[in-house]
Amino acid sequence: MFENLTQRLTRTLKNISGKGRITEENIKDTLREVRTALLEADVALPVVKSFTNRVKERALGAEVNLSLSPGQEFIKAVHAELIETLGGQISEINLAHQPPAVILLAGLQGAGKTTSAAKLALFLKERMNKKVLLVSVDTYRPAAMDQLKTLAVEIGVDCYPSDPKNKPEDIATAALKEAKLRAYDVMILDTAGRLAVDEEMMNEVKRLHSLTDPIETFFTVDAMTGQDAANTAKAFGEALDLTGVILTKADGDARGGAALSVKEITGKPIKFIGLGEKIVPLEPFHPDRIASRILDMGDVLSLIEDLQRNTDMEQAKKVAQKIKSGEGFTFEDFRDQITQMKKMGGMSGLLDKLPGMGNISDQIKDKVNDKSLLHMEAIINSMTKKERIHPEIIKGSRKKRIAMGAGVEIHEVNVLLRQFDMTQKMMKKMGKGGIRKMAGAMKG
Ligand code: GDP
Ligand code: MG
Repeated sequence: MFENLTQRLTRTLKNISGKGRITEENIKDTLREVRTALLEADVALPVVKSFTNRVKERALGAEVNLSLSPGQEFIKAVHAELIETLGGQISEINLAHQPPAVILLAGLQGAGKTTSAAKLALFLKERMNKKVLLVSVDTYRPAAMDQLKTLAVEIGVDCYPSDPKNKPEDIATAALKEAKLRAYDVMILDTAGRLAVDEEMMNEVKRLHSLTDPIETFFTVDAMTGQDAANTAKAFGEALDLTGVILTKADGDARGGAALSVKEITGKPIKFIGLGEKIVPLEPFHPDRIASRILDMGDVLSLIEDLQRNTDMEQAKKVAQKIKSGEGFTFEDFRDQITQMKKMGGMSGLLDKLPGMGNISDQIKDKVNDKSLLHMEAIINSMTKKERIHPEIIKGSRKKRIAMGAGVEIHEVNVLLRQFDMTQKMMKKMGKGGIRKMAGAMKG
């Protein structure tokens, strides 16, 4: 769908560009394209309907903005509604509970609960510095318990030695006691799943829920199941007090149907997405980034930004200050610069303004065209903060994850890492005098 929606929009936007103003009449075709693209992406029908209605209202109700064409105004409305439908703000994990904070994972068999339990443990350990206890109560498939144990060893997180001969409720109670005793911050409960929603499973998971009183109850769901994901989520939501959703296998989901349906149908935010079989920290779900990816807004959004082009001198000064003071130039700064460059008409625009860059300017211009600027930004956005500050840690699996997150090939990540290295060197070379010149050029 990602490709589809963008293509369809670009094709039909011609109908409204050049028109003075958005009217019901001139956006009819474009709205129909949006609807078709969403249906093809396996977005649930009620969501498709309400989504297109909201886009229409938003587009029609947009205040007259002289700097935007009706086509741009429409795209802006689609983008804004995508973000809203995906949950609006980023929804952070809640651990505000006297330790141990219990997190319960529920979902169908094969959804990715055990994998996500390990990935979540790694997220909590690495990103939040928490002491985590993993607990499996999947007594139906002893292999599932072993699976969790193996993953726990792999990531260096403790795993409660569940005995599959005991009842799930008893295991959970004993594990919770242990977690209290040994001062674990978080206990993650990996529950059993069935192939379809059934009463026995629901009752078991409900009992586990009331026994352990989780602060977070995550419905774990396979993104590849499209609108079924939202329907299963709804069934679970009616039985359990869900607090959020983990959308797994998003790496294989080119359609985005599940992502778009889940929040609206369940009312629960997607808090994390799983991007692969390898155990890496779960990724917090960013509605705005996914929305941009769905629309492949690179081109379209930059059109809008062009119009609001304006140089943020504060930002430029900050970077200049940083380099002058000898502090490390990181991908955080690099990203800020990309934003700046975009505002100033792209890399070529910026380099043209830099005095004395001569050949270097042309060399870089060849390598960095303005479209790749947008890819670069996507790649940097897919990095963790740690990776942005210490890019030297970006090796094989991190590269893969970043490439997936940004929707680019691994070699593009490699290219960017090299370009970053080059920029760093260039920054050093320009030294004190150069920076002042650069700031001056930006002003003019
Ligand atoms: P459970 O039955 O819900 O515990 O599911 P598992 O965690 O055992 O996962 C089922 C299968 O899906 C395994 O082969 C996992 O490797 C795979 N899997 C889980 N999460 C992801 C993901 O985010 N991406 C991909 N590609 N595979 C995943
Ligand atoms: Mg499992």
